Amino acid sequence: MPIDHSLPYDDSNIFAKILRGELPCNKVLETEHSLALHDINPVAAIHVLVIPKGAYVSWDDFAAKASDAEIADFVRAVGEAARLTEADTQGYRVLSNTGKRAGQEVPHLHVHIFGGQPLGPMLAR
Ligand code: AMP
Repeated sequence: MPIDHSLPYDDSNIFAKILRGELPCNKVLETEHSLALHDINPVAAIHVLVIPKGAYVSWDDFAAKASDAEIADFVRAVGEAARLTEADTQGYRVLSNTGKRAGQEVPHLHVHIFGGQPLGPMLAR
């Protein structure tokens, strides 16, 4: 069920639980402000999620409220996760669903990295 990204942060979401160590994850990379993990239900040969450690609902929320240090760390973590998983060797796609209409299901900002195969057109029509 897609969520409303304009709602206040709800720390019962699955990524908040992973960040608190209450649930396991298949970690790719951890930095001061970010965590990269393999998606539990991959839709591409390589499917990694990158999340900030801070409590941000969405890209919109993060862009408005995160510190410069958090933003720089997050952007670098996306690039580093792509390199570590070798998604960079043949090209990859970065995507962040933001809000209900975009299909965001987990109300904690996450960027998807897709790679390891031809990815086809950007959107199905
Ligand atoms: P979105 O639809 O953009 O909100 O994407 C949420 C993503 O989180 C989906 O691709 C799920 O497969 C993924 N996901 C849900 N639970 C977990 C989990 N415990 N560990 C890793 N990925 C998860």
